[in-house]
Amino acid sequence: QEFTDYTLSEEIVRALDSLGYHQPTEVQREVIPMALDRQDLVVKSQTGSGKTASFGIPICDMVDWKENKPQALILTPTRELAVQVTEDITNIGRFKRIKATPLYGKSPYAKQTAELKQKSHVVVGTPGRVLDHIERGTFVLDRLEYLVIDEADEMLNMGFIQQVESIIEKLPKERMTMLFSATLPKDVEKLCYKYMSNPVVVEI
Ligand code: AMP
Repeated sequence: QEFTDYTLSEEIVRALDSLGYHQPTEVQREVIPMALDRQDLVVKSQTGSGKTASFGIPICDMVDWKENKPQALILTPTRELAVQVTEDITNIGRFKRIKATPLYGKSPYAKQTAELKQKSHVVVGTPGRVLDHIERGTFVLDRLEYLVIDEADEMLNMGFIQQVESIIEKLPKERMTMLFSATLPKDVEKLCYKYMSNPVVVEI
């Protein structure tokens, strides 16, 4: 299988080529076609498998550049991961000029708020700061269609599950949700059944 086998736009295929991604990894072969069909997904996979691009590619493809409000939210357990994922999304979406905004704590609100006010297609952030921006009204959710929960088991270990749930409850019900986790403890499974619709479970 190759990236050109999927219904990806020319701008995305060109970006993957320029990144040196010539062949999809295993997790990408499983996830990309179903994500493009807007299937809710629970993906059990490790870091290093290419999982970031497995959600980054379909999200960059599906996002509408003309819409200024955020359409996708990617939740990560740490600031470092938020920065990394923002970079990956920016690279994959470069020829579509996709704008990704990172939101994390211990960093001034002003710059984040200014970025959210301008075009921001994808928001990548840690739960506490994302929730703060939602409550301040600086992160507008009415155009949000895609949610990714990355490293869900780490979210659980770090005590973020309650905040994750509070965020999900504020999102539009009509959305596609993908959850990624190296392991699937009970509380992560509960989250899947509570907030996803007929998710397909992919184990790599
Ligand atoms: P991740 O599992 O998302 O942390 O990705 C692991 C590494 O694989 C990252 O450095 C990516 O840039 C790289 N990568 C992801 N997808 C591909 C691909 N299809 N071909 C080559 N490298 C890739």
